[in-house]
Amino acid sequence: MISVYFETAVVFYLLAVLAVIALAGACNAIRRRGMRTEPMPTRIFSCSKCAHPYLDNHELERSSCPRCGTVNEPQRF
Ligand SMILES: [Zn+2]
Repeated sequence: MISVYFETAVVFYLLAVLAVIALAGACNAIRRRGMRTEPMPTRIFSCSKCAHPYLDNHELERSSCPRCGTVNEPQRF
């Protein structure tokens, strides 16, 4: 049988518990990062031909309507 000091066994036990907690935290962080969906900045466009409202990239000055293909400017409020 292997003889181990009590203090050494306690230290190894605590290290094992800390390792399990750290591993669980890392797995949780990785899982949360995969689930995170950040909203893309968009602009509201309204088609001048068919009046279809839609969203598109905020950097675009003009966007094609997904229904009829007419090029539109973003709505200004
Ligand atoms: Zn349209």
